[in-house]
Amino acid sequence: MFIKENAALFGKTLVELQTLVTELGLQKFRAAQIFEALYRGRVSSLEDITTLSLEARERLALEGFAVGRPEVVQTAKSIDGTERYLMRMADGETVETVWMPEGDGGERGDGSDAAEEEAGEVDSIQLRSVNSEVSEPELGKLEQSAGRKRWRDVGTLEKNGYRRATICISSQVGCAVNCQFCLTAKLGIKRNLTAGEIAGQVAAVLARQQIRVGQDRINLVFMGMGEPFLNYDSFMASVRLLSGAMGIPESRMTVSTSGIEPAIRRFAQEPVRPKLALSLNASNDSVRAEIMPITRKWNIAALLDAVATIPLGKREYVTFEYVLLGGVNDQLVHAGEVLELLRGLKAKINLIVWNPGPGIAYSQPAPEDVTLFQATLISGGLPTYIRRPRGRDIFAACGQLKRTMDDEPQLVSIASA
Ligand code: SAH
Ligand code: SF4
Repeated sequence: MFIKENAALFGKTLVELQTLVTELGLQKFRAAQIFEALYRGRVSSLEDITTLSLEARERLALEGFAVGRPEVVQTAKSIDGTERYLMRMADGETVETVWMPEGDGGERGDGSDAAEEEAGEVDSIQLRSVNSEVSEPELGKLEQSAGRKRWRDVGTLEKNGYRRATICISSQVGCAVNCQFCLTAKLGIKRNLTAGEIAGQVAAVLARQQIRVGQDRINLVFMGMGEPFLNYDSFMASVRLLSGAMGIPESRMTVSTSGIEPAIRRFAQEPVRPKLALSLNASNDSVRAEIMPITRKWNIAALLDAVATIPLGKREYVTFEYVLLGGVNDQLVHAGEVLELLRGLKAKINLIVWNPGPGIAYSQPAPEDVTLFQATLISGGLPTYIRRPRGRDIFAACGQLKRTMDDEPQLVSIASA
């Protein structure tokens, strides 16, 4: 259904709802009822706000108001349990949102989640590199098999009665950044999403999956379509809705940026903020500029300076993402340069094996190069994880999100993942 701009209730703060009900001549306490229904009750239509009188609901409808939350209009399910949703906004634009049972390790890289790290979980990879009874090239293999084991063990419904999952959210319709390896870039930018449209993707998925916030462990990653830091105000407003109104702590959220230097500096000042992941993706400016042209505007040194202004908690790290592109940035010389770049920073690295997409002329790294890259970083003292690709068979993995499900080829195999 098409609704007029600003007519969506979902996305409004309590204060905005109070102003609205007052303007409509409704009692002020109605605002709290609407707020509760939208963000805790996860209603998708006015009729479902049963705490409101019929008269109040009719009044809202008459004035053109609607819940206006994004709607799931198509779904695809991967053999690994990942689900990809096509979400339609009130004006008909669509984005994609991904549901990954048992998390994707995007927050950390090894399949565990952000809050465990804060709670002081032992970092197995670091311990292993210190007790080096294991030879370095073996480390990568061990870590990969440890990751796989954990993946099998955890399951969607854990023995102790809670579910664990990560939701990957889009922040824009398309993206303007034009990274050469990313399928979303091919769309160009259509428009920013509003705070309600960003947080609404989460509400729609939580409702669909019948998640109990507070009991189930939900991590959010702003790693879907778009560059969150080029839609900064709406992105941050959505964080406040998700944490304040919907009850998901910001310590369970990670935002990934391609590197918008002024926005990183602003982010560092925020009182409530998710964890940060910077898409480094290259070990020097010349390779980075080739694969991420935005490097010509803000180079690696400028980005690292900005990242260094973020106040980190005692157990907090800044994550650097590094997409490995065969023969482009995955060689030993590059690993050495990464170690140099990140020396002295409280950093950890998530290595992402490049996910292919139609019309993108890169190749995947050789498995032995991935192992060696990881082992080199670990032996240089940098905690390094390999991110397990999720939902590649349904084009739901990193950099594979676009807007339509109709015309896309199916990848034959994810066995090479
Ligand atoms: N725009 C933000 C967040 C969305 S992209 C950013 O770029 O950080 C999320 C992550 O996916 C980024 O680290 C990006 O480098 C990575 N990515 C993009 N395309 C990819 C691909 N084809 N394969 C693997 N990772 C990819
Ligand atoms: Fe945009 Fe991120 Fe894709 Fe780059 S990698 S084009 S910033 S979505």
